[in-house]
Amino acid sequence: MLAGGVGGSRFVRGVRQAWPEASITVIANTADDITLHGLRICPDIDTMLYTLGGGIDPEKGWGRREETWSIAEEFTAYGAEPRWFGLGDRDIATHLVRTQLLDNGYSLSEVTQVLADRWLAELPGVRVLPMTDDRVETQVVITDPDTPAGQRAIHFQEYWVRHHAEPEVRQIVQLGIEDARPGPGVIEAITDSELVLLAPSNPVVSIGPILAVPGIRGAIGTTEAAVLGFSGILGGSPILGMAHKLLPAIGVEVSAAGVGAHYGARSRTGILDGWLVDTADAATVDELRAVGLPTLAHPLLMTDPELTAQFVRAGADFVTRNRPAA
Ligand code: GDP
Ligand code: CA
Repeated sequence: MLAGGVGGSRFVRGVRQAWPEASITVIANTADDITLHGLRICPDIDTMLYTLGGGIDPEKGWGRREETWSIAEEFTAYGAEPRWFGLGDRDIATHLVRTQLLDNGYSLSEVTQVLADRWLAELPGVRVLPMTDDRVETQVVITDPDTPAGQRAIHFQEYWVRHHAEPEVRQIVQLGIEDARPGPGVIEAITDSELVLLAPSNPVVSIGPILAVPGIRGAIGTTEAAVLGFSGILGGSPILGMAHKLLPAIGVEVSAAGVGAHYGARSRTGILDGWLVDTADAATVDELRAVGLPTLAHPLLMTDPELTAQFVRAGADFVTRNRPAA
């Protein structure tokens, strides 16, 4: 499955619950990655590993459980910038391990495997692969009257975490995406799977970059697996996060139908064989079916893994029934 951080990891937990015996490959977004205080940080991969391995802070949905903040206090005492990105002590250990291995020449996939040896030890059959080992960075071009051009580009994390998605977005760019190559195993995972799932992750900054890595979208277009997507927009707004600030910047309506049409039906040059929307959006089902996208309405709240597992199974049944024979 293709997944981002908080929404993506909740989804993966539900998929695991639905099919405990299945081999699951998570293709994780790396376009949020950032270097701060000399530490290489991969927010979506970390959230995924911590969540699956039971190390996540359940209240915040990101960062480590039972976290302490001594290092952050020391940074503050030194006036060391930036201070807008929360880095707890336990979390910093992860970034130190990663940064050292990267500095020693290991690839991001190899490093992720080292981290996964700890966090996924109890989950045989589950793998987390970075979408690419190459540097890709989502930048947001925001309106800024204080600059000569009236706008400037900032890292997505700065837009999201520091500015709480408040500045007006002019454009979203993925730096480095044209030259990025799919990470080892990524294309094979898509080609060899029985089912490809798009988590209800942010379509612009989580799923978008994964699909934009040259080769990945094509592999999804031609895989023999059924491709099933899940809406993160429920009743017209994202359940968590700020996807509604970003969708307009790529010209997509903030609705389950808008995102479904954005991914598009595989039968009409899109990527989906099936699309799940929440029951709150049941009115869009006919509209989407009319444009060739088999759509099912079902409760899509990921309140706990069992509820998530229920809609994942329902979606899989639906897409299997609805797929035109190859
Ligand atoms: P991030 O990388 O941490 O921002 O997380 P993701 O991109 O993986 O997921 C964020 C998206 O998950 C948001 O846009 C939400 O709309 C979606 N989401 C969060 N909780 C739920 C839920 O309970 N149900 C559904 N369907 N979507 C959700
Ligand atoms: Ca993310």
